[in-house]
Amino acid sequence: MTLKVFQCEQCGLTVFPARYLCFQCGAAKWRERAAERGTIDELTTVRRRVGARDGGDVLLASVTTDAGPIVIARIERAMRAGDAVRLAIDEQSRVLARPIA
Ligand SMILES: [Zn+2]
Repeated sequence: MTLKVFQCEQCGLTVFPARYLCFQCGAAKWRERAAERGTIDELTTVRRRVGARDGGDVLLASVTTDAGPIVIARIERAMRAGDAVRLAIDEQSRVLARPIA
């Protein structure tokens, strides 16, 4: 699925996740915008405790989307800040980032 971010109809600010009121202008009308690509800002590894059911460390990246907002995405292998990624949503509504080949 495509990652969607939310753009204020009044001032154009884009946010993720959705908010009720725009914190820039106070409006409450949003339009959805696709955020299909982005650039990695930072990487973090979340260490799982030993014996966790779907064990293994989780790699997370903060990604500045082309649409504006920064999102936290799972990545499958180590990448570097500045790498371009394609963004998607999995069936558990998690944000995924994959390298653009
Ligand atoms: Zn606004």
